[in-house]
Amino acid sequence: MSESPRNVIIIGSGPAGYTAAIYTGRAGLAPLVFEGSITAGGALMTTTEVENYPGFPDGVQGPELMDKMRTQAERFGAELITDDVAALDLAGEVKVVTDSAGVEHRAHAVILAMGGTYRKLGLPAEEHFSGRGVSWCATCDGFFYRGKQVAVAGGGDSAVEEALFLTRFADKVTLIHRRDQLRASRIMAERAMNDPKIDFAWNSVIEDMSGDASLTGLTLRDVVTGATRELAVDGLFVAIGYIPNSELVAGQVGLDDAGHVLVDDSGQHTNVAGVFACGDLVDPTYRQAITAAGSGCRAALDAQKYLESLEA
Ligand code: NAP
Repeated sequence: MSESPRNVIIIGSGPAGYTAAIYTGRAGLAPLVFEGSITAGGALMTTTEVENYPGFPDGVQGPELMDKMRTQAERFGAELITDDVAALDLAGEVKVVTDSAGVEHRAHAVILAMGGTYRKLGLPAEEHFSGRGVSWCATCDGFFYRGKQVAVAGGGDSAVEEALFLTRFADKVTLIHRRDQLRASRIMAERAMNDPKIDFAWNSVIEDMSGDASLTGLTLRDVVTGATRELAVDGLFVAIGYIPNSELVAGQVGLDDAGHVLVDDSGQHTNVAGVFACGDLVDPTYRQAITAAGSGCRAALDAQKYLESLEA
């Protein structure tokens, strides 16, 4: 069964998708929003206290913030579907969005807000200890490691930032990097090198993890000598990169080398007319709730202008 074209379909929730829904809803465009099945609400659903979102001087829980945005979008007529999009055809003037049941939904404009996911090491033990010592977010979970020993995997700005942040809580932070040089910017690297709480395991990869109820140690392998050694830790923070959720649109809109959807400098237009993108999906740098919400607003206003130009 197919529907007649709508004004706009938004794919993805989180601050970007919901903000785009609030703006397009308020503009009377009756957006249809595919929130995602298990990922509805996006990354903030697995965050606890958010203290830097303006307007909440006492902080707000991530899920509560998403719930408020969702309710606000519904208030302005957004139709929210807790489902994933299975396929997209963005080429024509009418865009076709196929849901997981195979139903086609048509719209003149599409806003992409699918976010991204943290890269994983790919070890079976990583899944096993996920939430029981293994985390991808120091801001979320660092608090639990007061007075403990933790490790961070990675050598980029994220890893260094996580390591520096964790020194507020942990007694010792070991940064495990597969090379002998950090990828992180010089200023961040120097800060980490000068921090007495941070140790470095250079040329090292995590080969395995151990523990019973929760993580207690890592097996590290030196990639130069091949030697292995045990490192006792209470927590591991994996910070080896971020993968934008752009598989659905690969080959249809322009992407950068890392897979972020490319948008023009002056707005949120992709290289396909009528297709706009926002949030972490387009953002290699900031990835904050407020910047995602800001770009969701921009995408909505750009879509609105585009729809007006079709009517002219
Ligand atoms: P990134 O720069 O891509 O660094 C990823 C790190 O993880 C690299 O050191 C990489 O090693 C390592 N790595 C990748 N796959 C691995 C694997 N399977 N096993 C072990 N190690 C692995 O990612 P990011 O640190 O998330 O940063 C992404 C972007 O955001 C960058 O442009 C960064 O500058 C920016 N950022 C900026 C700030 C800031 O300025 N405050 C904070 C965070 C992020 P190799 O080095 O050997 O490739």
